[in-house]
Amino acid sequence: MKGQWIYTGLAAAGIWLLPYLYPSSYFIHTLQSLALTYIVVLGLNLLVGYSGQLSLGHAGFFALGAYGSGLTSTILGLPLWVSIPFGAGIAAVSGALVALLSLRARGPYLAMVTIAFGAIVEILANRWVSLTGGPAGIYGVPKPALFGGTSNLVEYYYLVAFVALACHLGVANLIGSRFGRTLKAFGQSEIAAETVGVNVRSWKIAAFVVSAALAGLGGAFFAHQNGYLNSDNFTFETSILLLVGVIAGGTGTLAGPLLGTTIVSMLPKLFASFYDYHLAIFGGILLASLVFLPEGLAGGLSQLFRRVGTGQAIRQAAEVQAEVPGSFHLLESVRTAASPAVLSAQDLEMDFDGLKAVNGVNLSLMSKSVHGLIGPNGSGKSTVVNLISGVYRPSAGGITWVGQDVTGAAPHRMAALGLTRTFQNLQLFGDLTVLENVLVGFHLQYRQGFLGFLFNTWAYRREEQEFRARAVGLLSELGLAGMASELAKNLPYGKQRLVEIARALAVKPTLLVLDEPAAGASSPEIREITDVIGRLRAAGLAVLLVEHHMEMVMELCDQITVLDFGEKISEGTPVQVKNDPKVVEAYLGGEEVAASVGG
Ligand code: ADP
Ligand code: MG
Repeated sequence: MKGQWIYTGLAAAGIWLLPYLYPSSYFIHTLQSLALTYIVVLGLNLLVGYSGQLSLGHAGFFALGAYGSGLTSTILGLPLWVSIPFGAGIAAVSGALVALLSLRARGPYLAMVTIAFGAIVEILANRWVSLTGGPAGIYGVPKPALFGGTSNLVEYYYLVAFVALACHLGVANLIGSRFGRTLKAFGQSEIAAETVGVNVRSWKIAAFVVSAALAGLGGAFFAHQNGYLNSDNFTFETSILLLVGVIAGGTGTLAGPLLGTTIVSMLPKLFASFYDYHLAIFGGILLASLVFLPEGLAGGLSQLFRRVGTGQAIRQAAEVQAEVPGSFHLLESVRTAASPAVLSAQDLEMDFDGLKAVNGVNLSLMSKSVHGLIGPNGSGKSTVVNLISGVYRPSAGGITWVGQDVTGAAPHRMAALGLTRTFQNLQLFGDLTVLENVLVGFHLQYRQGFLGFLFNTWAYRREEQEFRARAVGLLSELGLAGMASELAKNLPYGKQRLVEIARALAVKPTLLVLDEPAAGASSPEIREITDVIGRLRAAGLAVLLVEHHMEMVMELCDQITVLDFGEKISEGTPVQVKNDPKVVEAYLGGEEVAASVGG
């Protein structure tokens, strides 16, 4: 906290002093451009670097902010303290629209939607001449009068730069808070984020809105910088340059945008005489930074200071361990059901292009019991898990949660009701630490919202502290406290399985669905996982356990359902199932096939 104030004071002093160092109007104009571009790049970094959504149309939001403020102040005579927020607001609203239109689009498809958006805005700016003046532009866009009269260059620089500093502080708070953590989480695994209760659609929209609002704010400042505004500034090229600013500096870092912005704002001036080649030069920078500095300039520099970084990680780990509270019990991570029957599935069916992966399966899962789901590979177990957790919508049949119909409910809704799960193919947030993975699991229990993140309020910090302590307690129960500050992807496989269970327990489930939790784990780890499941059952949890490890299944399960070719072939206690000739046949048949194909 203290350090942050010192840095902020230094930055403010630097902003104040820069014009005195080199008082040329050209330099100060460049500083203005840098500050307003920085605001845009900050927002784009949040979207691309944190939530992993690529925008190739950010010039569109920049343009909407510029015309929104430029036109309302010129034509309607609105004062700037109204028109500038209005410009940012228009951009924010269109950000929400673009996000809504592209919810189902990912990767290259999302990039196409944003390109299309940028192109539409560019065409409007260019062709709707009666409003925008097209390439000839509009003149007489007012300049702000800060201290009465028309503001001079330096005053306007101060305005933009101090707003940029405020935006930086706000974005730094957002990134350092649950907001940034959630964006990073669904940027890495949407499905895992959903199953701990994150409504990924709404969060994507939120990321777009914040990002577009910042682009619009930068655009609004741009509109008033020169007193005129034409459509040449809002091309696809601008979108690319903004992206170069994010990527060259380093996506997903805080220092990256400032470095990147400096590069993209300064280089065109340095290379003014090579103007014709500037896009090629930027392309070269982009490629070079992707190849040689995959983490950007900021990431590259931090590699140099790795020693410092390691020291910091060790200190953080020590801090985390000092936090361990004595009072945490695994039992605190169990929600008791309102009735003994937690979830039931009736005649579930799932078709994959003619293949019936699940065919008429009935299931009834009770609290305080472990229900096994076994069967040969490809018999439909994971598909059943995906159906009841809301990942797939059944082709036919229904799902009931404590008497309520929940067929087709999204995974985050099932999580809110009390169902969460792990994955056969691990779905950790690999670039988050173990502790952060668990903190994302607490998503639904956090109360503080956006303003708490933005201003890093006392209430938010206290809440965060409380959940950190709980996360550390949960991790130490699972023997993972020593790894709390490691990146999840750096853990051994068996430990990753345990982290996924820890994250699921943070949801405080009524029903925990485990899809092959012991796959790839060592025998001591399997022992640990078995013990944990046993203790959870004793605490009242309902567990659906998909597993191949027969010892584990026989030891833990109260009831077992056996699938073969998508159909239920047997159900009962472990002893009943073990002696059922149909089960023996299904497994033997499977092994014969496996043996005959050399498995
Ligand atoms: P299990 O978990 O029991 O090994 P799965 O539920 O993963 O089995 O798969 C059951 C069958 O459904 C398999 O034949 C598999 O190839 C098929 N299947 C599973 N998921 C899909 C999918 N998303 N698209 C097409 N086929 C699928
Ligand atoms: Mg499976």
